[in-house]
Amino acid sequence: MGFFLKLFCFCFLIIIFHVFVIATPVFSHSNNNNNERSSSSISSKFLDLAKSPEVFDWMVKIRRKIHEYPELVYEEYKTSEVIRAELDKLGISYKHPVAETGVIGYIGTGNAPFVALRADIDGLPIQEMVEWEHKSKVDGKMHACGHDAHTAMLLGAAKILKHHEYHIKGTVVLVFQPAEEGGAGAKRVLKEGVLDKVSAIFGLHVAHVLPVGHVASKAGPLMAGSGSFHASIHGKGGHAAMPQFAIDPVLAASSIVLNLQHLVSREADPLDPQVVTVANFHGDGAFNVIPDSVTIGGTFRAFSRQSLTRLKDRIQQVITGQAAVYQCTAEVDFHEDQRPLYPATINDDKLHEHFVDVAKNVVGNMNVHEMQPVTVSEDFSFYQEALPGYFFMLGMQSLGAEPLATLHSPHFTVNEDALPYGAALHASLATNYLLKHDYGTAKVGGKYHDEL
Ligand SMILES: [Zn+2]
Ligand SMILES: [Zn+2]
Repeated sequence: MGFFLKLFCFCFLIIIFHVFVIATPVFSHSNNNNNERSSSSISSKFLDLAKSPEVFDWMVKIRRKIHEYPELVYEEYKTSEVIRAELDKLGISYKHPVAETGVIGYIGTGNAPFVALRADIDGLPIQEMVEWEHKSKVDGKMHACGHDAHTAMLLGAAKILKHHEYHIKGTVVLVFQPAEEGGAGAKRVLKEGVLDKVSAIFGLHVAHVLPVGHVASKAGPLMAGSGSFHASIHGKGGHAAMPQFAIDPVLAASSIVLNLQHLVSREADPLDPQVVTVANFHGDGAFNVIPDSVTIGGTFRAFSRQSLTRLKDRIQQVITGQAAVYQCTAEVDFHEDQRPLYPATINDDKLHEHFVDVAKNVVGNMNVHEMQPVTVSEDFSFYQEALPGYFFMLGMQSLGAEPLATLHSPHFTVNEDALPYGAALHASLATNYLLKHDYGTAKVGGKYHDEL
């Protein structure tokens, strides 16, 4: 790549970074000097540990092993085996199976308070196009969303926490969750009751536009809720030269596509971001044949349950109503049995303060960023409907390197230098949360911290 192209790519990366992230550091909300000092001490020591060859090389090895054998939603049997084998070696007890292939690990006293850390473990139906030693060995399947890295980072955190288990004032619950990619695995994990006693849950996602060693998130709505729809519009096929003898579903479907745009541009509050996209349109006609039917499909996004439900109801009405205008009939399917509506990812305000306090000690004040909401979705949101939860982005981009491919691209790669930050953040968020919520027994600034 030529110098000017490199320079262009670097500038483009910086622009993208600024589009998604307001590059202003978030300062501490803590007003307790002792707490701040001890939190800082724990966090920097956890990061040093996570960067040590003993933890870092081990995480890299696990991540590459999982990367080679990606598995799709609710089929993560081998991945689950790898996780359990490592937990066995670490002497960490766990519950399995949860939601088919999920694993729930426990570190600490076994008593309250309980705090959970979550990693998703599934891959995607994508053919990997990256040529490297640990390329996916399964045709048509790839870890193109970084869930292999998420799994390795949570195991890294587990290793660090297990090492300090004697000092943990409560219980850290490790959630290795299947089926994030459309399968609503989080919903099934919750249904099994394994998080009933948990008072807070943290999760992260690798981000290709954020520099390595940086994190970004915000209080309140962070990611959109989503749903998908598929509709069949039925008319009566016939000769394209004699449309008076046919009922044209192509025209009806075209009108439906246009009228669906009004749901956002005319009906939604301009200050409540929403998306309706029709992304496929199929008919079986020919240049001289009007087909019997046309199918269309797409997605819709919103930042509240209420707006999402409104969009869903109106999509149904617009499709059936517009079909009727053209003398067609329509069936609409929202696939809720296979892909339930994902709620919006809404971060708890108090956990945001906790995150900022902890993260600034792990990655430094200047590297904790306030983020703009994004219209992609995450099934972590199911946890947040049931208990206080917090989700954040973990940077992967090395400055000066070529921009990384986007999530879900066949060219997606993980910068493994990000792994120690994820592991240390997980471990620090949980440890500090338990310290803050165990007022009776936590020795803040005492022996515990000296020994770390
Ligand atoms: Zn994904
Ligand atoms: Zn993902």
